Amino acid sequence: MLSPTPVDLTAIEFENTFVRELPADPVLTNVPRPVRNASYTRVEPTPVPAPRLLGWSDDVGAMLGIARPLSPTGPAVEVLGGNRVLAGMQPYAARYGGHQFGHWAGQLGDGRAITLAETVSTRGERYELQLKGAGLTPYSRTADGRAVLRSSVREFMCSEAMHHLGVPTTRALSLVATGATVVRDMFYDGNPEAEPGAVVCRVAPSFVRFGNFQILTAHKELDTLKLLADYVITTHYPELGTPCKEVYALWFEEICRRTALMIVDWMCVGFVHGVMNTDNMSILGLTIDYGPYGWLEGYDPSWTPNTTDAEGRRYAYGNQPQIAHWNLLQLANALYPLIEDKVPLENALAIYADVFQSGWQAALDEKLGLSAPARPDDIQLKDDLFELLAAVETDFTLFFRLLATVPMDATLSDSALIEPLRRAFYSDAAFASAHVTRLAEWLRRYIARVQQEPAPARVERMNRVNPKYVLRNYLAQLAIDALTEGDASVMERLMSVLQHPYDEQPQHDELSERRPEWARHKPGCSALSCSS
Ligand code: AMP
Ligand code: MG
Repeated sequence: MLSPTPVDLTAIEFENTFVRELPADPVLTNVPRPVRNASYTRVEPTPVPAPRLLGWSDDVGAMLGIARPLSPTGPAVEVLGGNRVLAGMQPYAARYGGHQFGHWAGQLGDGRAITLAETVSTRGERYELQLKGAGLTPYSRTADGRAVLRSSVREFMCSEAMHHLGVPTTRALSLVATGATVVRDMFYDGNPEAEPGAVVCRVAPSFVRFGNFQILTAHKELDTLKLLADYVITTHYPELGTPCKEVYALWFEEICRRTALMIVDWMCVGFVHGVMNTDNMSILGLTIDYGPYGWLEGYDPSWTPNTTDAEGRRYAYGNQPQIAHWNLLQLANALYPLIEDKVPLENALAIYADVFQSGWQAALDEKLGLSAPARPDDIQLKDDLFELLAAVETDFTLFFRLLATVPMDATLSDSALIEPLRRAFYSDAAFASAHVTRLAEWLRRYIARVQQEPAPARVERMNRVNPKYVLRNYLAQLAIDALTEGDASVMERLMSVLQHPYDEQPQHDELSERRPEWARHKPGCSALSCSS
């Protein structure tokens, strides 16, 4: 099917199935308050002084059939900044709760996100357009409903980068400066500062989270629970059939499966979400809510980008698979009233563990270029590799990418064997003879395992799954710094390179290098606070 020519946002047709099919908050006053017996509150974005387009995703625009705005301040940008609601849009903030850092937090909800409407893509798929940073809602609690430019740039760039890596994720259409400042205490050290504000237009088939169900069960609003489950199944899981007890169970199983596959993808590309609270878990198995996320640089399973989590490390890289399981268990509790039988729920949680384990092992086989059939000592080979990567500071992304360039000649000297991996090491300890010997010994075992397969095929396979370019934390910060000074070129170049993360693109080699030392402790370049 030929895609129709993209048109201006103001000429698009909108639908509002979520609003139409689910119970609305009967109260309309837009002040922070507890909401009961509803899945959402109708609320409009709060206008901003001077909306100005800073970023646009042509890819998402093409998917939705929406043309890049001709003017950075025209009518489409007014919509994307929250200053104008188009005919056919019925904006709302969703009601949800969640477990934050392992504790039930009660009502959270869209405190600064407002869904404008739904639109059907050029391929017939339904997408929500949601503004993040669009102003106060009844769910804003004590916060201001706004978002700073730095966190908005990070969400805008990372959701697109993740998509192009092949990871299921929400998308981003636009980034709009508001012309207003937002006050944030970035380091939580009692020094709040005014920072530029922004609004991102996020795009996903649905932004429903585990927490949208949890809040309903927590308040025993079981009629609404059933309505929401039926809506999500019929709209987003129609292949499962007409909702009934069995279908709810199958649905939960499918959520477990999708979540497992998403986590496998995160682990493969070295993505650390940073705030895996149950309100940040998508019911569609998408990566959602880009906050203090980060990319593994030196491989360290206990690394977390989130300074708020530095003590407990609950959301560290290596914990993500177990945390997703724990979050699914909370969702199982929320869905129990629909199923009233814990056996299928427990089975589905076991399926999560199986799908994750087999998916992760298969993904590692791809990353290493190990051909089928599996050998009995493959697992040992993989386990030993991770021990080596953790032993000295080794860049996760570069190591796997460069592994494909190691000559498959076990007779080479130890130092000649590890030479192609040199760029992956942050620390001189890598070149101490004990580590060189161990790594070379591992490489010889690896060579013996993969030698049978013709090199070009193996290298091609590995390069398809080991990205050369990821959104390293310091690169995102460089884009933010330039944009704050009015220069969008750094962000634009980075986003265009990240559209093809598995391609060599030799003219952009420097964007694939390991984090420079100046960035090691610089704010935003390695660790981040939740302040956004
Ligand atoms: P998060 O963990 O950042 O996804 O957010 C947790 C909750 O806080 C969600 O309900 C958000 O909508 C809300 N929230 C975060 N930042 C703000 C803000 N600046 N204004 C209003 N609500 C916010
Ligand atoms: Mg959130």
